[in-house]
Amino acid sequence: MRVMLHACCGPCLIEPFDALVTEHEVTVCYANPNIHPLSEYRRRLETLLDYADSRGIEVLEEPYEIATWMRAVAGLEDDYPGRCTACFRLRLGMVAERAAALGYDAVATTLTVSPYQDPDSIREAGVEACAAAGVRYLDTDFRDRYRTATDRSRTLGMYRQNYCGCLLSDVEAQQQREARRARRG
Ligand code: SF4
Repeated sequence: MRVMLHACCGPCLIEPFDALVTEHEVTVCYANPNIHPLSEYRRRLETLLDYADSRGIEVLEEPYEIATWMRAVAGLEDDYPGRCTACFRLRLGMVAERAAALGYDAVATTLTVSPYQDPDSIREAGVEACAAAGVRYLDTDFRDRYRTATDRSRTLGMYRQNYCGCLLSDVEAQQQREARRARRG
């Protein structure tokens, strides 16, 4: 099958790409208007592109419009996992529309390599977004490869972010780090 693989960042691309490319023709699509600020968006993209170049992987980029993401999650800012499901639906919808327009057979996402993301929310969003675009959603679970992906990305010296992507997740991650520090005394 021709699969368009949504990639959230370089470190998360490594293992899902290797898993899929043994059976499919895979093109990567960076569709992440959730990432804040723009400098962070670019840093993650550059990390992804450096890795893709080293492997000869084709990468497409969708437009970065933070307002699109803000509209998608409006009213859901304090709703977990509702906010993230809406965020996944937006990003996978962008990839699904591009995949359908270019005649791809299916869409998958690197998000399923992360133990920090809710797999049910990803699946729900992926199925819905792909159905709307008329392309198949390839349901995956790469979490058993997360440790290997982490080790490989560290060995390669890749930039590894410490928050999911949006401004809210940056604030939440900082609060969690502070709470852990306070518990340790
Ligand atoms: S925490 Fe991550 S998945 Fe959830 S809304 Fe923010 S960027 Fe999207």
